[in-house]
Amino acid sequence: MLIPLLLLLGCGAGTPTPAAPVETSAPVSGSAAPPTAAAGLTPDPDFAADTNALYRVELAEATCPDLTVRQSVLSAERLSYLDDVLDCFVEAHAEPLAAYGMNVTKPRLVQAGEDEIVFCPESGPGDWAAHYCAVTRTITYRPDPGSFMLDPSADVFLLAHEFAHHLQAISGIWVDASLRHGMGRDPAATPKLELQAMCISAALAGRTPAALSDAALTREIRGLGGWGGHWVTTHGAPEQRADWAERGRSAVAEAYAGCNTWTS
Ligand SMILES: [Zn+2]
Repeated sequence: MLIPLLLLLGCGAGTPTPAAPVETSAPVSGSAAPPTAAAGLTPDPDFAADTNALYRVELAEATCPDLTVRQSVLSAERLSYLDDVLDCFVEAHAEPLAAYGMNVTKPRLVQAGEDEIVFCPESGPGDWAAHYCAVTRTITYRPDPGSFMLDPSADVFLLAHEFAHHLQAISGIWVDASLRHGMGRDPAATPKLELQAMCISAALAGRTPAALSDAALTREIRGLGGWGGHWVTTHGAPEQRADWAERGRSAVAEAYAGCNTWTS
């Protein structure tokens, strides 16, 4: 069965040329998605967008304890470094999510223009820095050619945002959002998915001090308000972005309990 699914592109706040997401729609096989209900049926509550088990998952207070703190990472090494951080994100979630029947696989991480598998077409505003394709479970990273920033923390926050989309895909939120909440049809649905990703990414980044200091996280959350006005439709107003990110940052044991944008 083919169902409509949104492709969301990531957000590059905090970099010299803030970039952000775009969306388009693409078909995906239902077999690639976690258990969920067809439109009109009641989904398994643990996989539904508004009652998902992800909101009950408990994460360690600090993820990635073995990650080497890097103050500077050259652009040539950036993708490799982000891949190491991605390994930590996956490892941190594997066991907690397995307890709820969710299998946390590692998303592919590729540099823009170098991926041989291009399923999700690019559309919308062109100033994006990363995007996630739920169909191929791929994060595409597009470094800013004009940036000479050695500090990799902005890119870590960017990666956390795309990993948040990966969690939405794994947990069933993405598919349920498409089927029951009108994502792609209801203009209010897509910002809910994006604001949730901002909340989840701030919660995750706040638990990864080896890759993102407290000061860097504060800077990145403030930076969420600096995107161009053309991102409001899909990613909410600047104050909404900061608000949801702060909710994520203040999370306790249940890391994503405050990130339920579907019932707010
Ligand atoms: Zn996004």
